[in-house]
Amino acid sequence: MKEFDFIRRYLNTCQDKDVILGIGDDAAIVRPRSGYDLCFSSDMLLAGRHFFHGTDPADVAHKVLGVNISDMAAMGAVPRWILLSVALPDLDEEWIEAFTSSLFDVAGQHGVTLIGGDTTKGDWVFNVTIVGEVPTGKALRRDAAVVGDDIWISGRIGLAAAALQHELGNLILPDSVAVACRSALLHPTPRVALGLELLPFAHAAQDISDGLAQDLGHILKASGVGAELFVGQLPTLSGLKESLPTSALHRCLLAGGDDYELVFTAAEQDRDKVLRAAELSKTPVARVGKVNDTGRLKIFNGQGKEIQLDSWGFDHFG
Ligand code: ADP
Ligand code: MG
Repeated sequence: MKEFDFIRRYLNTCQDKDVILGIGDDAAIVRPRSGYDLCFSSDMLLAGRHFFHGTDPADVAHKVLGVNISDMAAMGAVPRWILLSVALPDLDEEWIEAFTSSLFDVAGQHGVTLIGGDTTKGDWVFNVTIVGEVPTGKALRRDAAVVGDDIWISGRIGLAAAALQHELGNLILPDSVAVACRSALLHPTPRVALGLELLPFAHAAQDISDGLAQDLGHILKASGVGAELFVGQLPTLSGLKESLPTSALHRCLLAGGDDYELVFTAAEQDRDKVLRAAELSKTPVARVGKVNDTGRLKIFNGQGKEIQLDSWGFDHFG
């Protein structure tokens, strides 16, 4: 198969009335709705760094799109359009069929349209650039946390990090726990519906990709505030809690990564609104801490004792 057959046969599926010009020209043209700002983000996955060589193509597609959609969720944006750039060693039809069918499956679930990209020969690189729409001036930013805010997170965290450590042989999980954790690692659930519900009242937000402690740290730094975080309140899989020693559990919860849940802040008087947003978006949320004016993050265990983390989260150059 040639490059252009690949593009024409497998990628050119655009059916979006706001796409004026899709795949096939030098650039795509889209028309955003009036009254909306555009949000742009890119996330790249490399074999051997973000996923193991030989990973199922359907899982690679699910992940590269999921992590990008998660960035839109964290802004409170509706994900709309993606560009996909790939480096593949060859155009293996079976592989491509599995990859694209999973990609369009996830894209369809979120109403996202592929409008372009680039294809080159190379060693398994996948980059998605995503564009979303958010009502003008209303995006959920990292620099908007306010002293006195509650800190909330969605879903459950620590599972993906535990799965990775299990696969690397650094910790041992019971089979049923390993299965649930592996699914979290491969199939992140972007919290778009929750982001949209939070938009009218939440303050700061971001998605947790590099570990809660580090990512919450970004919000605190950008907002010029500090916080207290309570590990006992962090939602995770109960089987994970039972099967890991405390220090390993804390690492997975706080300094792991690949959670793709939202961490966000909202005023104390808006607790009911947060719970209503969770209900409307069918997304569990948990209140896990408090923003303060200390300028630093303090983490407390279930006994109220402060925890020191030896590593704060994932850093490619750390
Ligand atoms: P150019 O020469 O301008 O880089 P290409 O020949 O690379 O254009 O691509 C032709 C068309 O196919 C463009 O519209 C481009 O956006 C699209 N395209 C190429 N690769 C991909 C891809 N992996 N996913 C989606 N669209 C692609
Ligand atoms: Mg090109």
